[in-house]
Amino acid sequence: MTLQENVSLATLTTLRVGGAATYVATCESEEDVHEAVALAHKHGLPFSVLGEGSNVLAHDEGYEGVVILMRIPGVTFFTDAGATHVRAGAGISWDTLVQEAAGRGLWGIENLAGIPGTVGAAPVQNIGAYGMELIQTFLHAEVLDTRSNEQIQVSREDAAFGYRDSRFKHEPSLIVLGATFLLSKEGSPQVGYADLAGCISRGEDLTTPLSIGEAVRRVRSQKFPDRSVSGTAGSFFKNPIITHDQHRALAERFGAVPSFPVTRGVKVPLAFILDRVLGLRGYREGKVSLFGNQPLVLVADAGATAKEIDTFAKGIAKRVYDATGIVIEREVRNFPEINL
Ligand code: NAP
Repeated sequence: MTLQENVSLATLTTLRVGGAATYVATCESEEDVHEAVALAHKHGLPFSVLGEGSNVLAHDEGYEGVVILMRIPGVTFFTDAGATHVRAGAGISWDTLVQEAAGRGLWGIENLAGIPGTVGAAPVQNIGAYGMELIQTFLHAEVLDTRSNEQIQVSREDAAFGYRDSRFKHEPSLIVLGATFLLSKEGSPQVGYADLAGCISRGEDLTTPLSIGEAVRRVRSQKFPDRSVSGTAGSFFKNPIITHDQHRALAERFGAVPSFPVTRGVKVPLAFILDRVLGLRGYREGKVSLFGNQPLVLVADAGATAKEIDTFAKGIAKRVYDATGIVIEREVRNFPEINL
């Protein structure tokens, strides 16, 4: 474990805001994580895990606690009862795993190419894109339960996965150390989403995990700001799920509002509401704006503060509510997990 004191959270998060953390413990093994938790207990401090910091809004006041910077490495492919599995350390970049799997011609996670963050963070919000969700291939995670200080295995059935949700999100005492996925040598392209169907209609050959992954990365790079230039955490809000009645009422007022059926109602692209109902594409207040190519994405210019981002996001949520009655939720999480 490598320990640093007084580290700016702005350097550890892609929104590039936030004050200093008391300690940052870079953990490259399971033992390191145990050590970091023990350090927090010894100092009477809380602890919290960060991977690539790509989905968090760090407080301007910083964090009086121990940041466990998850860097556990390792990707191992193996066969179990004829099925292909891959086990990855929680610190591996998710997209590295996608590339390695696709490079071996393995199906199952190719549509999740280019999603920022680590393998350890992926089950926390059950990442999903272009009709594929982590839950479909996730077998289990190795987890440190810091309440009992024991390592446990959390299976798909025990993970309480939902839309961008899981029990890991609600139980901060669980630290994901690694995860195992079931992949397949045989598969068929899932290219029903308009973005991928568009690639095919332009003549692209999306018939392998490799070519699909590359297409998804290219599409994403056009929809999301370049993280090496702008502060951003990708989609800031979740796409809302509303009732059929709510959707009918919206359609009466605003014309054809796209919708996709899900078990609890219909999912509505928030980008459509922000853009076509509220005219907020590219909307800016000071150093914070909604990205011109995809208004679901919030961009923070250099010098922006967490408070400014929070105020901006609350304002957007209020406008959505006032215009449509829809309460939107954030996908990005506060760090630490208390209200700003
Ligand atoms: P998009 O493709 O414009 O889709 C917007 C919304 O419409 C999403 O709620 C999406 O559902 C739904 N949708 C679109 N086509 C659909 C279809 N054929 N069948 C069912 N539902 C459909 O969204 P975007 O913002 O440009 O993002 C592209 C993809 O990346 C989306 O799948 C999005 O969810 C995903 N993404 C994931 C994360 C994450 O996991 N943290 C972050 C950013 C974006 P779904 O959300 O269920 O796909």
